Amino acid sequence: MRIARRVQDLPPYLFAAIERQIAERRAAGVDVISLGIGDPDHPTPPHIVAALVEAVHDPSTHQYPTNRGEAAFREAVAAFYARRFGVDVDPATEVVPLLGAKEGIAHVPRACLNPGEAALVPDPGYPVYRTSVILSGGIPVDLPLSEEDGFLPDLDSVEGAVWDRARMMFINYPNNPTSAVADLSFFEKAVYYARRHEVLLAHDNAYSEITYDGYRAPSLLEVPGAREWGLEFHSLSKTYNMTGWRLGFAVGGERVVAALGKVKTNVDSGVFNAIQLAGVAALEGPQDCVEHNRNVYRRRRDELVNALRLLGWKVEPPRATLYVWMRVPEGHTSGSFTRELLERARVVVVPGAAYGSRGEGYVRFSLTLPDDELREGVRRIREAFS
Ligand SMILES: *Cc1c(COP(=O)(O)O)cnc(C)c1O
Repeated sequence: MRIARRVQDLPPYLFAAIERQIAERRAAGVDVISLGIGDPDHPTPPHIVAALVEAVHDPSTHQYPTNRGEAAFREAVAAFYARRFGVDVDPATEVVPLLGAKEGIAHVPRACLNPGEAALVPDPGYPVYRTSVILSGGIPVDLPLSEEDGFLPDLDSVEGAVWDRARMMFINYPNNPTSAVADLSFFEKAVYYARRHEVLLAHDNAYSEITYDGYRAPSLLEVPGAREWGLEFHSLSKTYNMTGWRLGFAVGGERVVAALGKVKTNVDSGVFNAIQLAGVAALEGPQDCVEHNRNVYRRRRDELVNALRLLGWKVEPPRATLYVWMRVPEGHTSGSFTRELLERARVVVVPGAAYGSRGEGYVRFSLTLPDDELREGVRRIREAFS
């Protein structure tokens, strides 16, 4: 059998390689501590689990979901937008439930790119932006992020010829992997360029609720007129510890929402209704579980950042996300430093270069492991490097 070139040419999925490394070490009896993958270690809050149990006992949830998703879920999303961002969205036409934000990100280029058309993707960036463009027959074009610019793309310096070829652009703030945040003026500028060059602006806001020190992440749709060119992705995964459930949503202009929905009806038939109803309980129920998560991660962030600084490494405490992004010590590449952490401290981190060539020179630590494991990881790093 022959495998299509677009699949052959995909880079191996980043975390598959990391999982393999961890499994190999563990099989050899080495107990490694993983600060690699970002996957909340706490369980889904009980009231959300209870809502699922109740919904799953109702046989009306057992059939195919409707194409547009449960009305109750779309309405809960609209209420979340009004409450959280002060933005009115029409639950009937401007919201689409997703099998996780990743699914929507993977499908949106199929809705908006013709083969051979270009999409701007951040470098470094969440790998799915690039691979989804490739799988859709599009051409990813790097949008460089650099530390000097606070890991925001310099949109003024994107050449006219690139804008002419581009049909969409991915952005993501709070950002994975750099933890950078953006204020509304950045989104205003992005909308300006999207409108001027007729480019769909796809904003991944998966970390909007994972913020610290009083920082509140805005929505792209707070920019007046943004929905004409914008689509925003959200996920319940990180906010409510629901990574395994596969539930997210996209909000944006009617045309792009309908186009994404059309792709989905031909691919996945939507999210299990009972899970959508549990999502209603998450969005509309008590939010103290989210505050609790933020407190847990902030405490871990401070412990990790303090320890890294004691070793003389330069690192800033992030204002959002589950990650600490750090420049590697002098004389290292992100790969060599990652290997050294694994060999000398038995700690796994992600080399920045895995997120794109401009991630070279950095590593990403994740905060989603139990406190005692994180403490042990920190202890090992200090022991190995002081
Ligand atoms: C975790 C993550 C996602 C995936 O969210 P799901 O809803 O679990 O698919 C999307 N974007 C970024 C940047 C992420 O880090």
